[in-house]
Amino acid sequence: MNIGVLALQGDVREHLAALAESDVLARPIRRPEELVDVEALVIPGGESTAISNLAVSFGLLDPIRKRIADGMPVYGSCAGMILLAANVLDGRPDQESFQGIEMTVRRNAFGRQINSFEAAVAIDDISGGDFHAVFIRAPWVEEVGDEVRVLGRVKDGPAAGRIVAVRQGNLLATAFHPELTGDLRVHRYFVEMVRQAA
Ligand code: GLN
Repeated sequence: MNIGVLALQGDVREHLAALAESDVLARPIRRPEELVDVEALVIPGGESTAISNLAVSFGLLDPIRKRIADGMPVYGSCAGMILLAANVLDGRPDQESFQGIEMTVRRNAFGRQINSFEAAVAIDDISGGDFHAVFIRAPWVEEVGDEVRVLGRVKDGPAAGRIVAVRQGNLLATAFHPELTGDLRVHRYFVEMVRQAA
């Protein structure tokens, strides 16, 4: 199985490691030629404005949009979720998106006081109990289109009920970072999505 991790900025290494532990040899993707060789892509957490800028300069914006439109499975965490959203609130005006998921996300939504926090999230489709989810200047999802399945919401605390995991067809996004906590269930779920898409 050939999965790429978009390696322009962000926590690329952590996703490569999580995929390796899920028995997939994933590779970093920096150029359009490398994208051609993979059947699926992970967009890491980091800074969506920086990843957007670099995707434009590396000539990856349109090729990734096209692969997504053609059905390539993609998983985005945090900044990766923002980059998959059709609409972004509180983004930078020149910030681009790969599009794909019919949703509106709000960048840095959880606000200053809780810039970084942990919360329990239950995810439909994934058994084994709640996720101990880590949020770092995370977005949340404010609105979803008819084709989007809400997979997870924050269970308690001030952000209770906020949508933080969604899926639309072959596209998966989480506002939190499973790549940082050693819980491999989201990566394994994505690998299974890739297997089924193949
Ligand atoms: N706030 C970041 C952004 O706008 C996302 C943060 C993250 O990926 N941890 O892209």
